[in-house]
Amino acid sequence: MQTRRVSEKSRLVTLLLALFVGIFGVHRFYAGRVASGILYLCTEGLFGIGVLVDIILIATGSFYDGHGLPILNWDETPKPIITTQSQPFPQRPQRVQTPQPTQKAQYQSNEPTIYCPECGSINDSETVYCSTCGLALRR
Ligand SMILES: [Zn+2]
Repeated sequence: MQTRRVSEKSRLVTLLLALFVGIFGVHRFYAGRVASGILYLCTEGLFGIGVLVDIILIATGSFYDGHGLPILNWDETPKPIITTQSQPFPQRPQRVQTPQPTQKAQYQSNEPTIYCPECGSINDSETVYCSTCGLALRR
């Protein structure tokens, strides 16, 4: 059993190349027929006759690529995409973050006041010594 293999080249691309730049043999270069492509390039597509014949052959699906496979598919056969696990980007050294001013404000809101055990006055949490009696509130 042998499945009929067809060229992976696009018939549409081949046809368009033959139509517009066929005299330079571009469609033959595209199809992988480099030798005849050069011949077309030198002879302006076999004096235009070769190009005309090629256009008919391509349109009727009788044009073959460099491997001898018929160019039949109008779309290019998608090649299997090999998904390689991409390497993670090298970690950049983290920038030393400058302390945010909001952190202090949050700290203050958590401990708003210090109660003085000596005189009973309420002091700001930032206060080291009691504003009333001068007791050391912090060690
Ligand atoms: Zn006090």
